[in-house]
Amino acid sequence: MKITNKIFKEIEKIVGGKNLSIDKEDLYCYSYDSTAKTFVPDLVVFPQSEEDVSEIMKIASKEMIPVVPRGSGSGATGGSLPIEGGIAMVMTRMNKINVIDTDNLIAKVEPGVVTGNFQREVEKYGLFYPPDPSSADFSTLGGNLAECAGGPKAVKYGVTRDYVLGVSFVLPDGKIIKTGVETAKGVVGYDLTKLIVGSEGTLGIITGITLKLLPAPETVKTMMAIFNSMEKAAETISEIIRNGLVPRAIEYMDNASIVCAENYIKAGLPVEAEAILILEVDGTETSTKREIKELKEMCIKNSATVKVAKTSSETKDLWKARKAISPSLFMYAPHKINEDIVVPRSKIPLMVKKIKELKEKTGLTMVSFGHAGDGNIHFNIMLDKNNREEFEKAEKAVDEMFDYTLFLNGTISGEHGIGITKQKYISKEIGKDETFLMKSIKKTFDPKNILNPGKIFELDGD
Ligand SMILES: Cc1cc2nc3c(=O)[nH]c(=O)nc-3n(C[C@H](O)[C@H](O)[C@H](O)COP(=O)(O)OP(=O)(O)OC[C@H]3O[C@@H](n4cnc5c(N)ncnc54)[C@H](O)[C@@H]3O)c2cc1C
Repeated sequence: MKITNKIFKEIEKIVGGKNLSIDKEDLYCYSYDSTAKTFVPDLVVFPQSEEDVSEIMKIASKEMIPVVPRGSGSGATGGSLPIEGGIAMVMTRMNKINVIDTDNLIAKVEPGVVTGNFQREVEKYGLFYPPDPSSADFSTLGGNLAECAGGPKAVKYGVTRDYVLGVSFVLPDGKIIKTGVETAKGVVGYDLTKLIVGSEGTLGIITGITLKLLPAPETVKTMMAIFNSMEKAAETISEIIRNGLVPRAIEYMDNASIVCAENYIKAGLPVEAEAILILEVDGTETSTKREIKELKEMCIKNSATVKVAKTSSETKDLWKARKAISPSLFMYAPHKINEDIVVPRSKIPLMVKKIKELKEKTGLTMVSFGHAGDGNIHFNIMLDKNNREEFEKAEKAVDEMFDYTLFLNGTISGEHGIGITKQKYISKEIGKDETFLMKSIKKTFDPKNILNPGKIFELDGD
């Protein structure tokens, strides 16, 4: 136990008795994320302000206590798990939207704001915050920044990184750092803001965020294209991109994910289809009408049946079905290996073919879906990890998938990060010199290695 009575009392003095706990039931509540791995912290604390975070970090630094920042714990790679125990610093009570500035199209928020709440709030001002991970209804903006979350709209609007103008964060020794700008441009000094985005809670604890907003589009139109051939669906994605069309979402679901989602929420999905694409466009009434017509024609030419959502409730049902895939997958097996590879968009047909071949070769239960418009395919293997033979086969399949992804000039993670689950693969993509540079950055920010230790890089002594 790293939390002595004295340390507990010191932290209690900072945050108050209602904002920390060492009760077992509380500790267990903050011991897991969506990887289903469990590491129990020694103390859970809910800071109320940047100053709280800073004061707690000063104690942690002096006492050499590991601290793991945590949002909603929806991360897919173990980033928020306290693998060395210590303090779980849960940011969800720092959840104020401080400013929505309609003149300058920016917002200032605390990290514990739930992304979906923020999206809905800015909509009231006629504004739009595009990053929308499928977990938007429960994940936090702080967690989204730390993982550089993507989502369906990334194909047109980019990812979280593209909307972060500045951050406040607390270094492991308690210093408060402010980076970035409130202007549309800014190039003074190194871009520390972008370094923090995607740093998986290993460099600093994000305490304040300045976000860029866009005017809300006038109209949104959504359609579903139903394919009897996975290959045709994949070719259609490439064709859409090649022809210069930019829908705001091109989501792909294979048959296994269609069946799963349909079982879970009964949305009337075509369970006999080999694949479906959910396509969404936004813009003016005229431009969306034209784009939907072009997309429809392209899909029909590739033998798809097309259904355009006629009402907002039909649109909502389509997205509900898409978002139901992840939680519904456990109908296949108790465990999931969940990868989020990305390939150049022109290579999507090759990747879809590879997944099909691998599925046939191994006999494993594989489910693939995802933000195919930007080449990001969520590739899941459902299995019982206690079945040694099945587990080893699955690990080999992941290895083969990653090798093929890199062969196609892709990347092994588009949005979930490395955390602990992908550590052993990072050297496939990142070279020795680049890894050394990254570890040197970590050492500069966190010389005592107390902030989210043991994440991203495998331990090797340097
Ligand atoms: C059903 C489901 C669907 C999902 N869909 C998507 C998707 O479409 N796109 C996508 O990108 N991801 C998706 N995810 C993954 C996950 O939701 C995202 O990674 C999300 O950004 C994590 O946010 P969180 O608040 O839950 O963070 P957590 O899981 O609590 O933490 C994630 C990481 O961020 C760090 N962190 C959290 N808060 C802070 C902070 N204030 N300062 C510094 N570090 C911090 C943690 O240490 C950890 O390393 C999905 C997950 C689920 C379960």
